[in-house]
Amino acid sequence: MGPIPPGFAVIDGELAPGGIRVRDLVARAGGAPLFVYDSAMIATRIAALRAAMPAGLALHYAVKANPFAPLLQFMAGLVDGFDIASGGEWRALQALGVAGARVGFAGPGKRDADLAAAIAAGITLHIESAHEAARALNAGARAGVAPRLAIRVNPDFELAGAGMRMGGGARAFGIDAEAVPALARQIVADGADWQGFHVYAGSQSLDAGAIVASQAATIDLIARLAQQAGVPVPMCNLGGGFGVPYGHGQSALDIAAVGDGLAAALDRRAGVLGETRFVLELGRWLVAEAGVYLAEVIDRKHSRGETFLVVDGGLHHQLAASGNFGSVIRRNYPCAIATRFDAPATEVAHVVGCLCTPLDRLGDALALPHAEPRDLVALFCAGAYGASASPAAFLGHGPAREMLV
Ligand SMILES: *Cc1c(COP(=O)(O)O)cnc(C)c1O
Repeated sequence: MGPIPPGFAVIDGELAPGGIRVRDLVARAGGAPLFVYDSAMIATRIAALRAAMPAGLALHYAVKANPFAPLLQFMAGLVDGFDIASGGEWRALQALGVAGARVGFAGPGKRDADLAAAIAAGITLHIESAHEAARALNAGARAGVAPRLAIRVNPDFELAGAGMRMGGGARAFGIDAEAVPALARQIVADGADWQGFHVYAGSQSLDAGAIVASQAATIDLIARLAQQAGVPVPMCNLGGGFGVPYGHGQSALDIAAVGDGLAAALDRRAGVLGETRFVLELGRWLVAEAGVYLAEVIDRKHSRGETFLVVDGGLHHQLAASGNFGSVIRRNYPCAIATRFDAPATEVAHVVGCLCTPLDRLGDALALPHAEPRDLVALFCAGAYGASASPAAFLGHGPAREMLV
């Protein structure tokens, strides 16, 4: 089983995210299954990140990782901006009063209505194709405003060791680096409010050296493209890709090493980037470890010598923990009996969800204290790509509850 993130409170042997016992959290929420997000842990993490990163680096939150409205509201006070990937994510931010000037909009397949709403709100569009650039400029002309445009570059490298690769080779994301100078010139000539460049090379990397190399390569690439295009670079979004340890044997990313490497790369950057505002955009690293998914044991059964704990949740809420969201090999997420958190492990049990499919395994052969029906199981690292990235309608059990504490 993987590493339980440090920092959770325990009261009288019971896990207590935010200093509240899990049984009380579930009662307050109206029942299990429940995602709990610990706001103090998020704030601590952001402070640690800012301390490790070079001064002046802007920090954006990628809404895709967790769009729960109270969490977005909390993040609005801690980060410099947001990155969205759909019109729906913008509406979620807009409902909270977030200004469009703080928002960048990446992602393929932006609809006309999304472009128009983003332009009206002063959002920076991260252009993913020449056709999209033309549509954005037309939408701006119709609205009588110069659209804020940046180009998302598909680099000629990828983030080594990343769990999910989104740059390098042939991709649906961004504009191939070799086509960027001509398009940048065109966009500027056509009267856009030119913002600069965005590179996002991959996700879930635990390798500080690979992240530093990718950021340094990004800075060099953007300088070269800007020089070739003869355009300024007001903003350069370096992407993110910072991973968190989920499984046995994985360890936390060394953010001090990433910060030192980035500072060195920025110190030696080309003159064309002298006035550039650099942005880091992170989703998972900011919120994943602050989230716990709580499900109640419904049944305890034995089959041919093995013990199964059947819980009232499952992959319809926490798909990633079942190994069916972007992982090649299924590995156990960190898991515990939340209501017997201090008790020693006395048995080996499988934790399975309530869906009628063999895919619904939340923990395989875990060493756990003896648990009974009504106990609560905690699955950790559930704060990112959990509730919103799982097929909640599958099998009709209904969605999980969510709570920020
Ligand atoms: C998914 C995504 C992110 C967030 O990635 P994390 O791995 O959660 O940090 C940031 N930017 C873009 C463009 C993305 O597609």
